[in-house]
Amino acid sequence: MVNGDLKTDVVVIGSGISGLTAAALLARKGREVMLIERTARPGGALKRFKRQGISFDVGFHYSGCLGDGEILAVLWDYLGVRDRLEIRQFPPEGYDELNISGCAQPVRAYFNYVQLAEELQRIFPVERAAIGAYLDKVRDICQEIPFYNLDLPLSPFLRGIKERPPSLAEYLRSITANPQLQAALAAPAFLYGVLPEAAALPVHASVAHGFYQGAYTIDGGGQAVVDAYLQVLARAGARVLTGNRVTKVLAAQGRVAGVVTEREEVIACREVIYTGHPAAVPAMVPASLFRPIYLKRLQELQNTCSMYAVFAVPEGDKVPSPDWVNYYQLPAGLDLVARHREGSLARRSLMMTSPERRDTGSLREPNRGIILLSPAFWSEGERFWDSTPRNRPPAYKAWKEEVAGEMLAAARRQWGARYGALRPLAVGTPLTFRDELAAPEGAAYGAQHSLLQHNPTARTRLPGFWLSGQSTLMTGVVGAALAGLVSAGEILELENTWEEVRQCR
Ligand SMILES: Cc1cc2nc3c(=O)[nH]c(=O)nc-3n(C[C@H](O)[C@H](O)[C@H](O)COP(=O)(O)OP(=O)(O)OC[C@H]3O[C@@H](n4cnc5c(N)ncnc54)[C@H](O)[C@@H]3O)c2cc1C
Repeated sequence: MVNGDLKTDVVVIGSGISGLTAAALLARKGREVMLIERTARPGGALKRFKRQGISFDVGFHYSGCLGDGEILAVLWDYLGVRDRLEIRQFPPEGYDELNISGCAQPVRAYFNYVQLAEELQRIFPVERAAIGAYLDKVRDICQEIPFYNLDLPLSPFLRGIKERPPSLAEYLRSITANPQLQAALAAPAFLYGVLPEAAALPVHASVAHGFYQGAYTIDGGGQAVVDAYLQVLARAGARVLTGNRVTKVLAAQGRVAGVVTEREEVIACREVIYTGHPAAVPAMVPASLFRPIYLKRLQELQNTCSMYAVFAVPEGDKVPSPDWVNYYQLPAGLDLVARHREGSLARRSLMMTSPERRDTGSLREPNRGIILLSPAFWSEGERFWDSTPRNRPPAYKAWKEEVAGEMLAAARRQWGARYGALRPLAVGTPLTFRDELAAPEGAAYGAQHSLLQHNPTARTRLPGFWLSGQSTLMTGVVGAALAGLVSAGEILELENTWEEVRQCR
């Protein structure tokens, strides 16, 4: 170890769900942990923000895997997080309403297999065989994944050599030629950000299955999750440092020896878990200890697309009732984002959701927030790449107003009857996500989990240096939490950790 100003067993870099999970697991097992976050508030994409007294979630609108016996609920039980949360399942009148171009009526994608199958068969009566084959396939794939079949050991799944699976697009084309049904079955790709041509069928299945088994919301949204973790960490004696970026990982005698922060503090430690985007790793580590090709691969990982986000309220003071439907506008076929990079946003996928309206905590005021999300491409903000939140040029504001105007117009055309006119309170662009989350290209879900590349694993060549976060194992709140479990598990002994966690079933 180096002689540092500070000393700890493990430094966890980044306080999103992945870092919080890794830190909580290690602290629970008696390790001295320091969690370091570059921004002023911990929580990464889970943080809520307020505008004009109205709360908005950024990166947590709904999740699967939170029912009894499901992996995120089990993990949160193990960590003591679940008891601190009010988790609620979407009721039977909750679903993803898929408005697919060319489809005479919206498809209600229910959050359970039976209702979903019935709805798909009602709308696509001649496609019964394709619908059955798809749903069986998704379930079969997930039977082989330990996070869904908790009887399985973890290591063979993580270390096994996998054959190239079919892409989601190849598979869907093999079972149906109906473009509207293809879009309905591909829709969960919106939740991991890879186009069906590049998405591996098992990745799609692992995200879709989570939601086909049930969708959940949490009172207080992502912020409540962050607050619960912080309480758990405080009880276990873990330290959380905010507003402090880690700039270097130090090594001595061939293993991790500490980190350096932007304030020039040296923190001595023997283990480091880095949960940010892997592209930042080459600049942080002693390059001579890594193979150049590995560092190049990290730098060149292809990213998921970014998002435009409009955070709005309905005009007027109507007291809101909870809305358990997430509304999607999707193109038919397999080009889920509708890659019309030029011109109007009108033909791109669009999601409208209102997670904060579902909070029922008696102490919380009724919320009125509505969120619109649409895929965005990094190149679209090129003229602003050099700017930071402190020095955006006036043209940036005009661009945001233009984007918001187009998305609000599309929402009004599609769902105008639902909320009437919406007034925007904040707008997010790829630049917002880059600067807030340290996400290269503003990538919404980190590096793509796609057939085009191998995402890095937790292990690296430098003993004591581990990777985690949504760009490693899997994306989404569930995927990133599990990435935290895996990297902390690698330090503690993977299979024992897995055994302890799954005993909380
Ligand atoms: C608009 C949007 C909507 C989404 N909706 C959903 C949803 O409804 N359901 C769902 O399951 N998922 C959703 N997601 C995805 C989900 O939010 C993410 O997959 C997950 O939160 C990522 O967690 P993470 O810990 O890997 O990364 P992050 O939450 O990004 O955390 C990484 C943290 O590391 C910090 N960091 C980076 N580098 C350093 C450094 N050098 N030093 C110190 N700190 C550093 C960053 O500041 C950041 O706080 C959404 C994402 C977006 C963007």
